Amino acid sequence: MRSLREILSDAQNRGVAVGHFNVSDLTMLQAVPAAARELSVPVLVGASEGERAFLGTRQIAALVRALREQYDCEISLNADHTHSLAKAEEAVIAGFDSVVFDLSALPFEANAQQTKQAVEALKSRNPSLLVEGEIGDIGSGSEIHDRAPELARGLTTPEEARQFVEFTRVDVLAPAVGNMHGMLASMVGGSARKRLDIDRIRQIKAATGSFLTLHGASGTDSMDLCRAIGAGINIIHINTELRVTWRRALEDSLSAQAREVVPYKILPQVVESLKQVVRARLELFNQPQSAAPSELAS
Ligand SMILES: [Zn+2]
Repeated sequence: MRSLREILSDAQNRGVAVGHFNVSDLTMLQAVPAAARELSVPVLVGASEGERAFLGTRQIAALVRALREQYDCEISLNADHTHSLAKAEEAVIAGFDSVVFDLSALPFEANAQQTKQAVEALKSRNPSLLVEGEIGDIGSGSEIHDRAPELARGLTTPEEARQFVEFTRVDVLAPAVGNMHGMLASMVGGSARKRLDIDRIRQIKAATGSFLTLHGASGTDSMDLCRAIGAGINIIHINTELRVTWRRALEDSLSAQAREVVPYKILPQVVESLKQVVRARLELFNQPQSAAPSELAS
């Protein structure tokens, strides 16, 4: 399997993005690689600190390793939203391919200083590890929110993006460009969609030249996602859409088989529903957009 850096460079040259899907349980961990295999595209499996605490950091890594070996597919593993060096090191030791080192809640200077130290410490353990840093405010919690957070003031500027990437030497940057973690009830119902600041993405790409991740993409307008890829987004995170699907599918399966107690008779329908959502997103992300300039590849 190619390294994650090679996978991202290749995706960038082809004008496509790599889909990143968070997993909280085995149904998700089955559905994500299954969809990627059907389409023969690389995929990123993500697990945040909370998801790792539930599934087990080493256990997720072992399962992903087993899937790679059995199916000969390109599944990379990302330690999503990691807020301390200790948790990041735990994931690197377990064999994760990348870490999102997220101190975006801190003031810019402190975030940059500590992220730079983390990049050095983590790469001394694994030089091929990719480290992602985050600046700006994209809210927290991949769940259903009652109201939209006030994010307009926290949008990332091209200048601070350039300073942050140059100073910290992160491989990947997660900017705030209109994206938001979680979904509003109106987005789950489909009557509202998130919109992205495409010009800002283009400017941040030109200013940094680094790989860019779009977090909180659940419920985003599909055309905006395509334009964002054309403007320089390389990784797109989907979490809440899967969680909403997981709950609905589980409830449907349980009520359709009211007396059933065998998990492997109840859960395959959940896996299938999740797989359909992942597949549709991967199809979108893998439609070539007007390719970003190849000199931006790093
Ligand atoms: Zn995120």
